[in-house]
Amino acid sequence: MVYKYVCLIMKIAEQNAVEFQRKLETWYSAFRRRLPWRETKDPYKIWISEIMLQQTTVQTVIPYYNDWMEQFPDMLTLSKVPLQKVLKAWQGLGYYPRAKNLHQASKIIMTDFNGHIPQNYDDLKNLPGFGPYTTAAVLSIAFDLPYLTIDANIRRILMRLLKWPRKASSSIDKKLHHFFSPLLPRRNMGILNQALMELGSLVCRPKNPLCLLCPVLDFCEAYKAGEQEVIPIPEKRSYKKIQAVIGIIEKNGKFLIQKRPSTGLLADLWEFPGGKLEKGEPAEQALKREIQEEMGIEINEARFLTKVQHSYTQFQVTLHAFSCSLNTDPVLDKNRHRWLSLKGMRQFPFPSGSAKVIKFLENKRESNRK
Ligand code: SF4
Repeated sequence: MVYKYVCLIMKIAEQNAVEFQRKLETWYSAFRRRLPWRETKDPYKIWISEIMLQQTTVQTVIPYYNDWMEQFPDMLTLSKVPLQKVLKAWQGLGYYPRAKNLHQASKIIMTDFNGHIPQNYDDLKNLPGFGPYTTAAVLSIAFDLPYLTIDANIRRILMRLLKWPRKASSSIDKKLHHFFSPLLPRRNMGILNQALMELGSLVCRPKNPLCLLCPVLDFCEAYKAGEQEVIPIPEKRSYKKIQAVIGIIEKNGKFLIQKRPSTGLLADLWEFPGGKLEKGEPAEQALKREIQEEMGIEINEARFLTKVQHSYTQFQVTLHAFSCSLNTDPVLDKNRHRWLSLKGMRQFPFPSGSAKVIKFLENKRESNRK
């Protein structure tokens, strides 16, 4: 089986690699979307875009990217701002370790590499947030070095070209690298990678690929066999549903918020006090328990305010928000807690679910004023 694939690859390599690249690049030059990070060769900007685009759609990323470049236009600026400002700029993009890694890596690049992104594969891959994909993407797109990027889009295309009816796991990447290495051009690798990424987004889509519009249709074994729709074999994902309760504690027009731990889920973001509901536990009871556990104080009264939902990549959270009054002033940890007005909260990074609750409070205050 392996021998058969090697023969196939070598056949393509010998006869068709140049033609494959030419067709793909011609298509890319005609049909690629004009995106802000494609108008630059600045390695810093390419790096930021590649990190933002992980697990996130182009349309979502564009406003974040533009805003980021306004706030942190270069490596030096990014390395000097506080983490909280970076997390705030990232609010709503999800996968927050990406933002922390960007910030940390920018400091290392400033001190160890004189402010320049290293062009050596191992130096780059050792920086926070640089896995094999990001390293290859930055080196190929910014410096035109011959590294093949394999993300979900490219993995899918390569598996279809080869007609590999397997699951799309990262373990298959090594095999793909091995088989495609003989095909890689010495120049224009950045263009080739971007063309493949674009092909995966626009044409070789996970469902209903538009094969008749595909520039490399003649090279595609899955298409020839009519199996393009079933490659790769989809993986079953477990999607957790979480019910949580939060207390909106107000005093003199300010609200009590707390900082999440610096490791784990949604690290270093801010939120309203509260926590998960236990199985079968009523929301009000859970709120009393959580506030007691977290701050050692009791709630006098809890009045239901709103319920919001937000879907993260691997779970969906439902937040039940209650307006609370306390029987005594809490003793607070200055590093973890703040009393803030709604306006003051705009400077702080929150998970998207909490941000929806803040929006609810702003709307409520606005309608009370009318
Ligand atoms: Fe993908 Fe279809 Fe093109 Fe094959 S022919 S690479 S399945 S779009």
